[in-house]
Amino acid sequence: MTRLIFLGAPGAGKGTQAKLLAESQGIPHISTGDILRAAVAHQTPLGVKAKQYMDAGELVPDSLVIDLIRERLQEPDAQKGWILDGFPRNEPQAGFLDTLLQEIHQECDRVINLDVPDEVVVQRLVKRGEDSGRSDDNEATIRRRLDVYREQTAPLIAFYQTKNALVTIDGNQSMDAVTAALKAAVA
Ligand code: AMP
Repeated sequence: MTRLIFLGAPGAGKGTQAKLLAESQGIPHISTGDILRAAVAHQTPLGVKAKQYMDAGELVPDSLVIDLIRERLQEPDAQKGWILDGFPRNEPQAGFLDTLLQEIHQECDRVINLDVPDEVVVQRLVKRGEDSGRSDDNEATIRRRLDVYREQTAPLIAFYQTKNALVTIDGNQSMDAVTAALKAAVA
């Protein structure tokens, strides 16, 4: 059973790598960012509430993502394992996840921290914004997302270091090298 949490700054390559690994393991890749972007695109009540925060580079309120994760982890496909990408994003979300996993009798087996220097992350995100047109990949919002990451998400590295098996992987290598390092880490 593979149940993983991916940590790392925006642009560290979490989404790409989590998706590849999830496909190779036949388990769902659960990205709160992807779910929220789909909700914004479809103008659902969740999307309407989330959009202003996402465009500003801020985290959406915890209650919105917590409900979403509670439901998603209880879907049939998530009973075979999962990779969480972009959740938890702060200490309250991490505390919620701990309690939820106990309630549903699941356990996260590794927390992967994809480590990439800030300058590289900014370059990658600016490029992604040009290529994909993602509205939060402009330089001002990117800087804010990095600050939010440093203030709210990076403290989870220490939180998981004491709790679970945290593995830090150098994300500043070729995509194939990162994929290989990840496969070795979860083998
Ligand atoms: P991501 O695709 O993970 O970089 O997320 C894009 C945006 O979605 C973030 O900048 C937040 O506004 C929002 N978001 C994604 N996941 C979360 C989360 N776990 N908690 C709060 N906001 C989130």
